[in-house]
Amino acid sequence: MAVRAIAFVCLRKELKKTPKGLTLTVAKFLKNVNTVALPIAKMNSETPTIEKSDCIFCNIINKLENTEILYEDDDVCVFRDIKPASDYHILTVPKRHIEDAKSLTTNDKDLVEKMLTTAKELLSKNNLSVDDARFGYHWPPFRSVRHLHLHTIAPESKMGTIARMIFMKNSYWFASPEYVASRL
Ligand SMILES: [Zn+2]
Ligand SMILES: [Zn+2]
Repeated sequence: MAVRAIAFVCLRKELKKTPKGLTLTVAKFLKNVNTVALPIAKMNSETPTIEKSDCIFCNIINKLENTEILYEDDDVCVFRDIKPASDYHILTVPKRHIEDAKSLTTNDKDLVEKMLTTAKELLSKNNLSVDDARFGYHWPPFRSVRHLHLHTIAPESKMGTIARMIFMKNSYWFASPEYVASRL
């Protein structure tokens, strides 16, 4: 977890140095996050049913991490992003391990619709406007964690410059839910 924060600080420094190298910097940032060594699973003899996976989000879904779950049902799970890009920044993930937005198929149409609806409902519950929020998916190869997740960031108007670049609307590294749905 801390490595991701460090990676972000490095990114901030590099952006100051080389404003031209934005794409490269974003790619590098995401690569750093990817290469974080995950803690080796400890077998607990009393709870042998679920083992730690090498996917951090699967572990959160399976309650193997100390992450607060904001919402869950049979299909989706919602928790906070560890590096919020505005006051409210949540990740909505499918409980089934799907690698990324590019690997979704027509069969996942209902799932991605539900992910977006769930995220919007959480915004409303927190008195945040859907119109002042940014939604999107990383687009391969610019992935952070390799488990599909919908970023929901609000208020969008309070996002900083670097966050706006990392989660840039309709960039080729961050795709809108509309775009992702249109491909299915
Ligand atoms: Zn996973
Ligand atoms: Zn992400």
